[in-house]
Amino acid sequence: MIELDGSQGEGGGQILRTALTLSMITGIPFRIAKIRARRQKPGLLRQHLTAVRAAAEICGAQLAGAEAGSLSLEFVPGKIRGGDYTYAIGTAGSCTLVLQTVLPALWFADAPSTVLVSGGTHNSMAPPADFLIEAWLPLMRRMGVTTQLELLRHGFYPAGGGQLRATVEPSPKLQPLDLHERGDLREVRAVSVVAGVPANVAKRELGVVAAELADLGPAFVGMESDLRGLPSNEGPGNALLLALGYEHLTEMFTTFGEKGVTAERVAQRLVAGVRAYCAGTAAVAEHLADQLVLPMALAGAGAFTTTQLSSHLTTNCEVIAKFLPVEFAIESAPGRHTIRVT
Ligand code: ATP
Repeated sequence: MIELDGSQGEGGGQILRTALTLSMITGIPFRIAKIRARRQKPGLLRQHLTAVRAAAEICGAQLAGAEAGSLSLEFVPGKIRGGDYTYAIGTAGSCTLVLQTVLPALWFADAPSTVLVSGGTHNSMAPPADFLIEAWLPLMRRMGVTTQLELLRHGFYPAGGGQLRATVEPSPKLQPLDLHERGDLREVRAVSVVAGVPANVAKRELGVVAAELADLGPAFVGMESDLRGLPSNEGPGNALLLALGYEHLTEMFTTFGEKGVTAERVAQRLVAGVRAYCAGTAAVAEHLADQLVLPMALAGAGAFTTTQLSSHLTTNCEVIAKFLPVEFAIESAPGRHTIRVT
């Protein structure tokens, strides 16, 4: 039984999600106390509870403490079974975080699976569905994973109601990933998603992004701008996304429209994040970095460079090392950190 302290390091939901994934895969039970102790509303929220129940169903686990608001949980896993699974978060809690919890386990299942999750698909503080589809999944495929993701319906905070479907083939032998350089920049694409928000908001956002990034080079001057207008009953919601398609990876930056924040301000926030990344040379930005370490640890080897060493990333490495026989070595230079898994 591995004992975990949910208040360690970052002290958020990732400690629990990583533990669920690796407990399913390794068969090692765990107990966690002080769940999400460093968050404003500690304990299990709907998103975490959905991840716990999903993990438990997929591997027939025995559970204690799986209730809303619970600060502790015991999880005793059984055998991972492929199949058709459906989960409703019931709030705008993130579908992508629930999927990232169960997908790696289903790569080790005995049969193919489909997973349909409903809830939020475009949440601040979580990877938007587009990020999983365009940035994370292509790297997983390079590691040997056969998984497709479809965004069936968008879901924003606070209404939720989005749907994501994953189709998964077992692929238990993961290949190491070595991702040190970005390679040439081949494509820049900005997307403004609006649901129940005037199209003019999206046009203003896209206008600012194109104007403010044009000095970064020809790929930015020729950037594609997409206005994704959705039925108003999928909202209200507004997400502004920018994909940078390099030779060796796609990175994606996102900001969200908020009441009382102008379209120009939403666009300027995105521009600031993109400019900071483009000023550096490391391959992976903050968020993708913390989402790569678990699959890389499952492969048993690999390395990448990242612009930022977040506490989310270092906490995740600490939890992973409790379940798997791996070591993480970190070499830091200004704006470029190399994470190596051995
Ligand atoms: P909780 O809030 O449930 O306690 P947590 O503490 O794990 O969960 P965060 O640390 O905010 O939540 O991050 C959750 C995950 O979402 C992390 O993997 C992070 O990299 C990812 N994430 C957050 N924002 C983005 C973004 N804009 N693009 C991609 N990924 C993101």
